[in-house]
Amino acid sequence: MRRPAKKPPQWGRRITIAGSLLFALWPASPLGPATVKLDPLPERVAPAAAQQDIVPEAVWLVSRGSEADLYSNGLRVENRYRVSNVGRPLDGRPAGIVFHTTESHQAPFAEERSRELTRIGANLIAYIRRHKSYHFVIDRFGRVNRVVEEADAANHAGWSIWADARREYVGLNQIFLGVALEAETAAQGITPAQLQAGKTLIAMLRSKYEIAAANCVTHGQVSVNPHNFRVGHHTDWGGSFPFTDLGLPDNYSLPLPAIAHFGFRSDGAFAQAAGPRLLKSVELAERQLAGNAAARGVMVEAYRAELRKQFQGFKEQIP
Ligand SMILES: [Zn+2]
Repeated sequence: MRRPAKKPPQWGRRITIAGSLLFALWPASPLGPATVKLDPLPERVAPAAAQQDIVPEAVWLVSRGSEADLYSNGLRVENRYRVSNVGRPLDGRPAGIVFHTTESHQAPFAEERSRELTRIGANLIAYIRRHKSYHFVIDRFGRVNRVVEEADAANHAGWSIWADARREYVGLNQIFLGVALEAETAAQGITPAQLQAGKTLIAMLRSKYEIAAANCVTHGQVSVNPHNFRVGHHTDWGGSFPFTDLGLPDNYSLPLPAIAHFGFRSDGAFAQAAGPRLLKSVELAERQLAGNAAARGVMVEAYRAELRKQFQGFKEQIP
């Protein structure tokens, strides 16, 4: 167990006591990097976008059962595959949701393939359960399966970064819920049943945990490679996530915090994998980074190098 190195604060940033405690309490685990929570940086965190938060409808638990839980908005959550994992740190309250595709084998969605679709879905969820990969998986028939308990961390996001107007988050496994849709990017998207189920699940989670709409994001938006400082280590839902149809604002319009806050970069591979909507968020983040550098009277690349050094410091502090 290592404590955070004492470093002089730079660019006005400092680690909170909660962050230091977190390192002390959170041992090395297969979950990947720990969450680093930082003090608010109002002077550097530009408003994410002129975006109105969409307030979720009130959703409540109607009945709890070993088989399934029922909610007031029609959501039914299957409990057959539920499994516990390492508990979430701090108060256990998730700050956001990361959406994934399972990138698993897909059979054509047709009536005569029902048995095959059922078998593929069941095998997939069993695999996800073994690896404790996500909190929820929505299969192609729109069934919402609870896998990792909501109060626990799941192994869904790896090295990942997001930020809202108050905080920056690094290592989202432990602070964001993981919701996967059984889908493959190369295939034709998701089914109407998945869309409907996803909408009710998001509404329930946002209502229960008061999750801001701007913290409902995709793996393609948050995933990073800390070794080469590139964004988009994983690119699932890189540019085609149906935010609006799921009752959310178009969060592709938000600048990528990995670039704006920590000096990461996009590259050709990301440009190819991500859609034009996500490339726009790269552009916005670069502009924000340049603006913050100018406000401090330093060159952009010097500022980027300093941000990376700070990220490297956090990375080294993680056991
Ligand atoms: Zn993913």
